[in-house]
Amino acid sequence: MMLRLRSVLSLLLVVITTFLVSCSGPSVKVPDTYTPDRIAQIQIYLTPVSEARQGMETLGEFVQANNWTNARTYIHGPFGFLRRDLTYLANTLLPNDQKAAKDLIDEIFAHLERLDAAAQDRNGTATTTEYNNALADFDAFLRLIPGNTEAS
Ligand code: ZN
Repeated sequence: MMLRLRSVLSLLLVVITTFLVSCSGPSVKVPDTYTPDRIAQIQIYLTPVSEARQGMETLGEFVQANNWTNARTYIHGPFGFLRRDLTYLANTLLPNDQKAAKDLIDEIFAHLERLDAAAQDRNGTATTTEYNNALADFDAFLRLIPGNTEAS
């Protein structure tokens, strides 16, 4: 009787374990594609980044007009959360894209810092160069985002 109960219990354990493994399987698997869920999440984090991309046009107008004060105010004000917003969006990408995106974020901010310094020095050539480079890296970042129709 005892032996029989034990074999029933061990069989039950096998059934339960099999069930648990098959249930937990998909959720622990690392995603290697852009699933519809992931795309939906990306769209949410893309919103503030798309707004910032429009803000780049405003910054470009200040740069073109040699409006040093407004250019610097724009970098420190409206772009104050840009690194955070870009990083949130980068974190939703697949590992390979994430690495490339984070490199581009570093690039964008290196250019914006140099643009800020050049504007302080009232150096029109340098501000234009750094602005164009920041814009190119921003657009390269956007091209990494799947389902993004705004990337040029
Ligand atoms: Zn660059």
